[in-house]
Amino acid sequence: MKIGVPAEVKNHEYRVAATPAGVHELVRNGHEVTVQRGAGLGSHIPDEEYLAAGAKMIDSADEVWAQADMVLKVKEPIAEEYHRLREGLVLFTYLHLAASRPCTDALLSAGTTGIAYETVQVGNALPLLAPMSEVAGRLAPQVGAYNLMRFNGGRGVLPGGVPGVAPAKVVVIGGGVSGLNAAQIAVGMGADVTVLDTNVDRLRFIDAIYQGRLKTLVSTSYAIEQEVLQADLVIGAVLIPGAKAPTLVSNDLVSRMKPGSVLVDIAIDQGGCFEDSRPTTHAEPTYRVHESVFYCVANMPGSVPNTSTYALTNATLPYAVKLANLGWRDALAKDPALAAGLNTHDGKLTNAPVAEALGLLC
Ligand code: NAD
Repeated sequence: MKIGVPAEVKNHEYRVAATPAGVHELVRNGHEVTVQRGAGLGSHIPDEEYLAAGAKMIDSADEVWAQADMVLKVKEPIAEEYHRLREGLVLFTYLHLAASRPCTDALLSAGTTGIAYETVQVGNALPLLAPMSEVAGRLAPQVGAYNLMRFNGGRGVLPGGVPGVAPAKVVVIGGGVSGLNAAQIAVGMGADVTVLDTNVDRLRFIDAIYQGRLKTLVSTSYAIEQEVLQADLVIGAVLIPGAKAPTLVSNDLVSRMKPGSVLVDIAIDQGGCFEDSRPTTHAEPTYRVHESVFYCVANMPGSVPNTSTYALTNATLPYAVKLANLGWRDALAKDPALAAGLNTHDGKLTNAPVAEALGLLC
């Protein structure tokens, strides 16, 4: 199969859909991989590494798309890419079609076969979203610690304290993939960490791993209030699949928090779990609410594209190899996880929740 890897063109997107190791694996399986020159530079992966791994390199994005049977990308196509969509092409990427009617219309009118990373599903798990939750979770205490510094508007607290001085209190609301990764890094920094979740089985699992090194609490509005009032850093990491995030920290509660406390809302891409959360960007990531600092960047992994590229492609590569080796029809027939990824084919929407969100038939 001929596989194309174009450079990403969406604003501030520095990831790339294949690493040199991924190219090597696809070539080893008998496929031809063409990478757009410079596609890896945003993640600090030079062209020479792709060449050494067996890629063909070309300058023109139009050519990368035109010669490919399957295009591997990171983000959904944007308007300037729509003319490259066509019938017979398989596009494997994050699509998030429920949030973009124009992209849906472009894929449908072109007749492109769109397989979306975010709807590939194994049981209840979303294996191609998990790596980005891991990255965002591990970043949260880092950006929290940065913003807790006095000159960044924070209360001037060092997460680990020092001998004789108490560490910062970090409260993580939601102990799923991102929340557990956040807790892990906060514990590693030496902070006093509490994780709240509504799922007691999840809390049992976390408690068993951490052996008393952090505290777990069932998430109720009472417990959240008690914890948040003592917190230096609050990390929001909840998810109710398919729904807007619940509002768990009110404006009134923030008004009573310690001055200079920091709130990081990882769940901002689902509307956020603090009443005053609104999406921010890496250019201006924080704002103040009462005397607290809010950080609500919707694309946290974008700030560490090198790590994010490797984390994402580790997860996508086995599926890309399967699609290339078997062809998309047989690959989907043999793998229900991948079948759940099919969003568009032959001018039709094929994913019921996406169709429902857009008010379309599938
Ligand atoms: P997950 O499903 O692994 O975990 C969510 C957890 O929230 C679950 O354990 C669930 O039991 C818990 N929960 C639900 N309601 C709760 C409540 N009221 N109180 C406490 N816990 C509650 O989800 P995840 O992969 O960790 O993702 C969390 C959110 O982060 C999602 O919205 C995801 O899209 C988002 N995310 C954001 C970024 C970013 O850059 N901002 C990056 C990756 C993921």
